[in-house]
Amino acid sequence: MPTPFRHQLTRRGVLATSAVVLLGVPHQIARATDKPVVVATFSVLGDLVAAVAGDAADVRTIVGAGVDTHTFAATPADAIALADANLVFAIGLDFEPWLDDLLQGSGESATVVTLTDGLPLRAADHTDAADAPSDDHGASDPHVWHDVQNAIRMTEAIRDALVAADPANAATYEANADAAIANLEELDAWVLERVATLPEDRRKLVTAHDTFGYFADRYGFEILGTALGTTTEQAEPSAADIVALVDEIRAAGVPAIFVENVQNPALMESIASEAGVAIAPPLYSDALGAPGSPGEHYDGMMRSNVDTIVTALGQ
Ligand SMILES: [Zn+2]
Repeated sequence: MPTPFRHQLTRRGVLATSAVVLLGVPHQIARATDKPVVVATFSVLGDLVAAVAGDAADVRTIVGAGVDTHTFAATPADAIALADANLVFAIGLDFEPWLDDLLQGSGESATVVTLTDGLPLRAADHTDAADAPSDDHGASDPHVWHDVQNAIRMTEAIRDALVAADPANAATYEANADAAIANLEELDAWVLERVATLPEDRRKLVTAHDTFGYFADRYGFEILGTALGTTTEQAEPSAADIVALVDEIRAAGVPAIFVENVQNPALMESIASEAGVAIAPPLYSDALGAPGSPGEHYDGMMRSNVDTIVTALGQ
């Protein structure tokens, strides 16, 4: 009876091979997590964190390129990713309204670093068409990353948190942060130079939601108006709000208004058409661009935005 015997051997061989393969998988995962697991809530933060972490930490981003963090719907997979995390970097100021639930769902073992802590904050603006002027709440604007000086302060905070969490790699984090900050200083100087080529009376922005306030403050722009408020969660503006914004655009004589990479352009297109002005190419507002696009990294996102703004408003 040699045939059944051989068959058994073959099956054993297959089983043994399968067991080796299966054992190999958890072993590799365990090796990968020997590095600290660091989670950034959204793509722009993920890029700043990755520049400091380099190869020393495993950096994961929850809300990816081109996705709106304000309205993001977290999944159980996101809770699982957080459960592995040693550190979580967030913006705070209600930019990630889903984060608390996600942390609770994951067991809350990670240290959360809120990167707007200690930054000079601007009040959430009320010049937008959808929100009547009011001083009844003191909410702060979360969109700090559009000022490169804030990106530098955030990079310092990221460095300090990584050094505290993983002191064995302190020298790596410090060297990476030094290099990142040097690049950011160069970027900030470039933005100032590029904006200086645009006449001051042309520096007026109309965007879908109120995300460029820190950019405006740092680089000398006026936010003429936004169709939505500081968050994109609210309903569309009323017809009367749109009429008011269109009147403002006409009165200011701006040649173009702007859509954002995280927003459906339809609303801004109809406002532009009403006002008789151009729609500029999309700005990277609350997310990086897809891999291969100019906005794949923070530096390229800022350069692309500034080129788009200076070109569209300089016409
Ligand atoms: Zn936003």
